[in-house]
Amino acid sequence: MTVRVRFAPSPTGMFHVGGARSALQNWIFAKQQGGVFVLRIEDTDAARNRPEWTEGILSALDWIGIARGSYEGPYFQSSYAGEHRAAAQRLYEGGRAYYCDCTREDVQARTGPQQRGYDGFCRDRGLEPGEGRALRFRTPDEGETVVVDLVRGEPTFENKLIEDFVIARGDGSPVFLLANVVDDMSMGITHVIRAEEHLPNTPKQQLLWDALGVKPPIWAHVPVVVNEKRQKLSKRRDKVALEAYRDEGYLADAMRNYLMLLGWAPSGDREIVPWSVIEEEFRLDEVNPSPAFFDEKKLRAFNGDYIRALPVEDFVEACRPWLTGTETIAPPPWQPDEFDPAAFAAVAPLAQTRIAVLSEIVPNVDFLFLADPLIDEAAWAKAMKEGAADLLDAAIVAFEALESWDAESLKATLEAVGAERGLKLGKAQAPVRVAVTGRTVGLPLFESLEVLGRDRTLTRLRAARVRLV
Ligand code: GLU
Repeated sequence: MTVRVRFAPSPTGMFHVGGARSALQNWIFAKQQGGVFVLRIEDTDAARNRPEWTEGILSALDWIGIARGSYEGPYFQSSYAGEHRAAAQRLYEGGRAYYCDCTREDVQARTGPQQRGYDGFCRDRGLEPGEGRALRFRTPDEGETVVVDLVRGEPTFENKLIEDFVIARGDGSPVFLLANVVDDMSMGITHVIRAEEHLPNTPKQQLLWDALGVKPPIWAHVPVVVNEKRQKLSKRRDKVALEAYRDEGYLADAMRNYLMLLGWAPSGDREIVPWSVIEEEFRLDEVNPSPAFFDEKKLRAFNGDYIRALPVEDFVEACRPWLTGTETIAPPPWQPDEFDPAAFAAVAPLAQTRIAVLSEIVPNVDFLFLADPLIDEAAWAKAMKEGAADLLDAAIVAFEALESWDAESLKATLEAVGAERGLKLGKAQAPVRVAVTGRTVGLPLFESLEVLGRDRTLTRLRAARVRLV
């Protein structure tokens, strides 16, 4: 039997990193089993869906290597409303579901506010379908439902504790729980790999599979993703959108490697491994069921390692969206015709070892392309203390006299200027750096000055000197 898995996101917001993790796990599992990956967009919640979220999911999947055209779908759940209704009808006709006209208040009046769930009041009332009547599934009174789960073993649920849950609302529309099962069934899904938060639904869904007469799939409920406070990652509190990481300059390879480490690790004492190793070694039954910590700091460090490992030409290419701006990435502060590719190529290797995300390229190189540097006033105040004017005067004179404008000569010159004033190189550099780049930190100073050139360097030093008068 061919393995068929599906990734079934609801397009109700930006694409969550936890979703991306589940998608990758489905993708790898399908590949290892020679199976098929199906993408199904669960868009039945019309009030919360937006087409741009669907597009966001497709493009984010594409970005992490699940390319459009290389999977089955996307299918849209909303196109199968007829099937969902037919299944509800079949369950009703087969006596597996019944109509119920209880309101929540009715139920609570009978059971008291403490008890949760439905009390089965309408089970044997034989109500006909009608406006405002919900359809409830008649859960078995006895026995247990054993869920075969590759990550969690065999979670077992006592049937008598499962309430008679609603499968179609008072207006006749089937609920998500049923639609999800009917689609999995008609798409021939053999393994459902999804987040742990769906586990409480699983015994109900498995009962629906049984009642509809189809062998249920094998399940794998992968761990919930949490923040450093062990709270479930939420879009209101945490940075969860895969698109946000992409636009900040995380590399797709770093991101997908990191996502696969949420609850799993490759063999040996390694974390950064080629994708081919992950594709070969990943096993669902090795996934740790406990909550997985999404450690943004670690991801950043990871990304820095991936950036440093790039051939420099690839690094230059990877920076391009931040150097020009795109639909989703803000343009840099310089005008397009101010950009100088040769100057960028000259400093790129210096930047490559220093940045952790690609968007950081912009503040590191903007001094090269702007007519005047963007002065950070706090940096200015810190660097331009007593003695700064005198130091700048001396640096200007010494730099003007330089025969060769290269990093080494610039360094030796400023070192000498500083020494005459009892200043170590670091102290002597600070006013020069702020005058020329506007910041106290950045790329190595003397290489930066070499690339910026004599005229522009001197102009900036003189402008700073004037400001200090
Ligand atoms: N549409 C559901 C969600 O986005 C997925 C349900 C499932 O994977 O079965 O949470």
